[in-house]
Amino acid sequence: MKRPAIVKAVLIVVFLFFVIEGGLRLYRHRQFDIPVVAGPGVTRVGRLSDFGPGLKGTKADTLVYFLEGPEPGGKAVLLSSTHANEPEGLLATLLMIENAVVERGTLIIIPQFNHSGSRNTRPGDGYPLYFRISTEWGLKKFRMGNRDASPLDQWPDPDVYIHYPDRQLLSYIDVRNVNRTWPGRPGGPLMEKVTFAAMEIMRREKVDIAIDIHGAETMFPVTNCIVAPEKSNRIATMAALTVKAREGFDSHVEPSPSGFRGLSHREIGDYSDTLPFLLEAPIPFLDQPTGPKTEKLLLDGKDPFLLSLAQKKKLFVSYDESGWPLEKRVGQHCSLTLEILNQYSKKNPDRSIRAREIPRYAEIVQNGVGHYFHDPSLAQKDKVFLN
Ligand SMILES: [Zn+2]
Repeated sequence: MKRPAIVKAVLIVVFLFFVIEGGLRLYRHRQFDIPVVAGPGVTRVGRLSDFGPGLKGTKADTLVYFLEGPEPGGKAVLLSSTHANEPEGLLATLLMIENAVVERGTLIIIPQFNHSGSRNTRPGDGYPLYFRISTEWGLKKFRMGNRDASPLDQWPDPDVYIHYPDRQLLSYIDVRNVNRTWPGRPGGPLMEKVTFAAMEIMRREKVDIAIDIHGAETMFPVTNCIVAPEKSNRIATMAALTVKAREGFDSHVEPSPSGFRGLSHREIGDYSDTLPFLLEAPIPFLDQPTGPKTEKLLLDGKDPFLLSLAQKKKLFVSYDESGWPLEKRVGQHCSLTLEILNQYSKKNPDRSIRAREIPRYAEIVQNGVGHYFHDPSLAQKDKVFLN
């Protein structure tokens, strides 16, 4: 064999090694399921495709948990993993599925709303594929997803995404971002089918409240807040003031802009009778000027570059050596969700929603998030759902 041929052969072997090794990791991540132990409040589990048949058999179909109380009342939809790289929302809703007991009304929870995005990662950013939370029975492993649906599930992207039905021109990538494809349509791109099915839940189930749970950069002005359109504003303001007074954490209200289309907090309210809210908790991991995107940064939110930027007043939230740990983010989401339900229930006693066994901010900060997850290996088989 001549020398150039040997060099070529070696290079091909090295190339194939990286392709196969990397490809297998991504394949395993896409197939990895998170076991969820349905708690005492879960009365039935359906699928999003029950409301939007175009989703059947696709990776965009996802589980919908119903927690129906013995007394009739109002209904609330809780969504998380709209952006599957903002795991505080996912952990808050999974914690509710595993523990909440609904006494009045119904909670409808969709923990992996962008299910395709939850099985995707962010190319070029070095995201960890998984993160682990310590519990009393060992480490519980979760998939870390991406903001957008996987191109394996929705492809090709257009040059420009033309929002339906407003025809506003959006970035091409937003065609795979389920917080730009509301209110959706049954025959549109896959992510429009996802939001259309969710709109069908709002309309068919006569949902009173929808809460879409996110995380946002500390350098982004719309962070640590409740985003609400005009019709949800009063309840959002009361909820923010109440948690500040009673639980001591800040969250302000941001108005939902009427000129920017496709967002859950805008379109759900415009295309149904439901009152929408979007919750943002600060997630330092998503900020651009940080160190490596490690599992540790995702969990504790501590970063030396953000700390120096905080001293230069470049962040939109207070930030010190303690970072912005996951417990605080999940705790804020649980307390704000409970407070929105409370405030709505006070104003609408005939449609009130009452749930217990959902921990609040201080309890989660004290006990840690893992405290609330149950060991799937000890649970009754028919109570374990793979998400
Ligand atoms: Zn988000």
